[in-house]
Amino acid sequence: MSNNRPQKRRPFPRSKVCRFCADSGLRMDYKDPGLLRIFITERGKIVPRRISGNCAKHQRQLTTAIKRARNIALLPFTVPRR
Ligand SMILES: [Zn+2]
Repeated sequence: MSNNRPQKRRPFPRSKVCRFCADSGLRMDYKDPGLLRIFITERGKIVPRRISGNCAKHQRQLTTAIKRARNIALLPFTVPRR
């Protein structure tokens, strides 16, 4: 009867640790859209911490970096729907 619990599914594989903490050589750089692009959706939104797996410190740096990159047109603010 009460056996119809919905199964937990994650749309994106979540890395267990923050990848900036795990890789000390990896620097947050707003001039590096290739790196930042990992952390935005295809609509141009910033991926939430729950999904990206970043720690609070680095998620905060990432948000700043993405906003800077947007201002100098390295990343889109939004991606228009087709
Ligand atoms: Zn971190």
